Amino acid sequence: MSSGRLFIVATPIGNLSDITYRAVEVLGEVDVIAAEDTRNTKRLLQHYNISTHCVAVHDHNEQQKRQWLEQTLRDGKDVALVSDAGTPLINDPGYHLVVHCQAEGLQVVPIPGACAAIAALCAAGLPTDRFSYQGFLPAKTKGRQDKLNALKQEPATVVFYESPHRILDSLKDIVACLGEARRVVLARELTKTFETIRSLPAGELLEWVQSDANQQRGEMVLIIEGHKSDASELPQQALDTLKVLKAELPLKKAAALTAQIYGVKKNALYDYGLNHL
Ligand code: SAM
Repeated sequence: MSSGRLFIVATPIGNLSDITYRAVEVLGEVDVIAAEDTRNTKRLLQHYNISTHCVAVHDHNEQQKRQWLEQTLRDGKDVALVSDAGTPLINDPGYHLVVHCQAEGLQVVPIPGACAAIAALCAAGLPTDRFSYQGFLPAKTKGRQDKLNALKQEPATVVFYESPHRILDSLKDIVACLGEARRVVLARELTKTFETIRSLPAGELLEWVQSDANQQRGEMVLIIEGHKSDASELPQQALDTLKVLKAELPLKKAAALTAQIYGVKKNALYDYGLNHL
């Protein structure tokens, strides 16, 4: 008997229509659906007239349920994993289950769909060629500031999930650590009635959110513009030299040598190289 397949099924992040035909088919055809919160998932299933049996798999019973699910798969039954909203494993349970299934040679099949981070990113108007997904910002000020300081020079666009209870504190820390001019996008209640996407320099975004309690409600994603090196301060000769050296050497080494020759900042050259060469 061949083993069953584990389907990782993305579900809507608000608007129930944001689910793929394939996801609906799979949810209707598998033997069992493993859901983070069965009451929540049953609302979705009812909407699509799906009557597949659901079992709860959450942080508190994950290990025990994981063993049962793995046995179910070995018994030849197909399982779909869903979370409360969006793509499982993206700040949601499922990682250990997937690792174990992979290790046992069980087939894991992704059924792609909604993900708040990607939905926010594609409407934010910030560079999407490189981005760094960071999950939730730490809840405590010290941890949050450490995290933001560590990302200060990050040239890629940075994506965070944020809780409405912490949005003001987080924006204050973003202003303090990254400066009030850094562009930040607040993407709130995506795909829902009060969907709001606002892009402003950090200081102005903080003032706007502070002045309107509605902006402190609901589900939200914060997207922060990457660190921009000021290439205009770098002499053209230095940029030309960097380009020549970069063809022969790792960027770090090429930037260090160019910085030595022209007496300019190594980090600015390195950032320029990452972004433009
Ligand atoms: N797995 C989900 C995904 O694929 O996006 C994320 C789960 S995480 C536990 C929940 C967080 O995602 C929320 O606190 C919020 O930061 C973000 N989120 C989920 N739905 C959202 C929405 N409709 N609009 C904005 N952010 C959302």
